[in-house]
Amino acid sequence: MSVIALGTMAFDAIETPFGKIDKIVGGSATYVAYAASHLVKPILQISIVGEDFPKEEMEELKKRGVQLDGVEIVAGKKSFFWSGKYHLDMNTRDTLVTDLNVLADFDPVVPESYQGAEFLMLGNLMPGLQISVINQLRKRPKLIVLDTMNFWMETTLDDLKKALTLIDVLLINDSEARFLSGEFSLVKAAKIIMEMGPKYLIIKKGEHGALLFHENHVFFAPALPLEDVFDPTGAGDAFAGGFIGHIARTKDISFDNMKTGIIVGSAMASFCVEKFGPQRLKEITKQEIDVRLAEFVQLVNFDIDLV
Ligand code: AMP
Repeated sequence: MSVIALGTMAFDAIETPFGKIDKIVGGSATYVAYAASHLVKPILQISIVGEDFPKEEMEELKKRGVQLDGVEIVAGKKSFFWSGKYHLDMNTRDTLVTDLNVLADFDPVVPESYQGAEFLMLGNLMPGLQISVINQLRKRPKLIVLDTMNFWMETTLDDLKKALTLIDVLLINDSEARFLSGEFSLVKAAKIIMEMGPKYLIIKKGEHGALLFHENHVFFAPALPLEDVFDPTGAGDAFAGGFIGHIARTKDISFDNMKTGIIVGSAMASFCVEKFGPQRLKEITKQEIDVRLAEFVQLVNFDIDLV
């Protein structure tokens, strides 16, 4: 039931209307690993860090069943750095800084021990590197999920379009779906994007939940209405980790099971935003996850008499 998780391991500086932090551990693969490791083990991490990345964070990940053989540590260099500032609605943000640092020369190598993994989570990263990891796997995983963002759509669109022909599930947010398709209607956007390759498309809409598209089917998962959203950073990656973690744990790649997967993803995202950085994802217990999943069931459970 192993899951390969590719992505960034980083330092972030985050500013929200409620607080500011100059340096906190982040990165797409960090959030994916923390979220997914609550559901399935091992997580086979592929990433790159500089010598500044905290050893304690690596130990914390290892304790949770995250294998780090595929994480390259570059002496004398700095880890990827990202800085963002959230608007009052907490759904939109401006990227202030993207310093690639070690990422600029990253050429991921899939360790021999990772071969045969059944699930592949291509976290947000250069699409060319996502393709490279797919190509290095001798046996195609049962399910390949790809997460990306507007930054890569604007800078490396050709590589991203090639990657889309190789994957099963694409995860993006609503503005990225509109940008990629050139359509405002998300239903029309979904059709166009699925024609680019992925058979399944998940469109995340922040506090408004997520939509799962496949052929002519669509399913909606709400986001849990929270009194306080403290820091939305990593919510998308936590969603991805919850989704792939659930699919890998159940080994069921049907559309019906993906519906449950996006509920689990939403639950993980709802924890993630409760504190700065990945902190909350580290603290949560199995019991808290179960209680939250039950809250999701209550949120959308209703009886109706057909007219
Ligand atoms: P999310 O809020 O889910 O979009 O993810 C935020 C995380 O993604 C942060 O911890 C950043 O370090 C990381 N990140 C930001 N920009 C990029 C990028 N262009 N490529 C990969 N990871 C990124």
